[in-house]
Amino acid sequence: MDYQEKPSVMVVDDEASNVFLLKNILTDYTVTCAFSAKEMFENIDAAAPKVIILDVMLPDQNGFDIAKKLSSDKRYSSIHIIFLTAKTESTDVVSGFKHGGYDYIKKPFDEIELLARVEAAMKRAFEREKLESEVFIDPLTELYNRRYLTDYIRSESSRALRSKENFAVAMLDIDHFKSINDNLGHPCGDHILREFARIIAGELREYDVAIRYGGEEFLVVFPGESKINAVSVLERIQDKVLSGSYIWEDTPVSFSFTAGIADFMEIDHTSMPFEDLINKADHRLYHGKHDGRNCIVINDD
Ligand code: GH3
Ligand code: MG
Ligand code: MG
Repeated sequence: MDYQEKPSVMVVDDEASNVFLLKNILTDYTVTCAFSAKEMFENIDAAAPKVIILDVMLPDQNGFDIAKKLSSDKRYSSIHIIFLTAKTESTDVVSGFKHGGYDYIKKPFDEIELLARVEAAMKRAFEREKLESEVFIDPLTELYNRRYLTDYIRSESSRALRSKENFAVAMLDIDHFKSINDNLGHPCGDHILREFARIIAGELREYDVAIRYGGEEFLVVFPGESKINAVSVLERIQDKVLSGSYIWEDTPVSFSFTAGIADFMEIDHTSMPFEDLINKADHRLYHGKHDGRNCIVINDD
């Protein structure tokens, strides 16, 4: 998110007067309005809200069910939901929290109290985001780390098996990296790792995922892509790596990498797709190293 913008809040309520009242009050935020669950789901990706103010009684879906859906979906689980409803029984309040709500406001609401609650939820959302980025980001390269991969595999494996949509996995490893460290020092090695990560990240689409898998080993997941398409991305990365000039303390440094790629269509669709694909990609990487390095391997022979 662009931190220059106002933080994003989504208001979901079928009562238009309520929606407009909230929009007028929430002047410190970018407010996106939805009058049904359907509309909310249609606009949620573009709006990218940190907080959703959610009515419970909507025409097409119950707010509690919506909250449950959001909190069980990795893409939306960090959104803080504030229920705003005329359902004021304490059993309803309890139900709200049980379904993943962060806060609960009863209608008719007090404007000042509502603003304070939205602000508190927003603060918590930002804190959580910061914490998550510290947990899941590799500090040297600023790519995702291994811990993120574990989480990603858990949530994406079942989706891949269900949707049967293709996706590719590539494993990249810098060639003779040890000699860069040995000849020019560890800080130079770190510099090359950062440069390599920057090149990889620069060539990926928004939904591709790059992970620092090990020391000088990187894994990229290409959702929705075949290995043929992934190869063309890796070839661009290879061009950039080979044509780039890297200077370390006045000394030019050059490097290359070897990669192995595999895709979902190649494997048994009933097992754990990520583990199998990572193994396959790793196996091909190993063969690429054996065959002289600086190459991209997509088949076993
Ligand atoms: P190959 O072409 O077969 O991949 O050879 P290589 O030298 O790249 O591979 P090897 O596994 O022998 O060496 C990897 C080196 O990477 C060893 C390790 O010290 C270094 N390394 C791991 N993590 C880091 C890091 O964060 N920074 C630096 N500078 N070096 C690292
Ligand atoms: Mg290496
Ligand atoms: Mg290695």
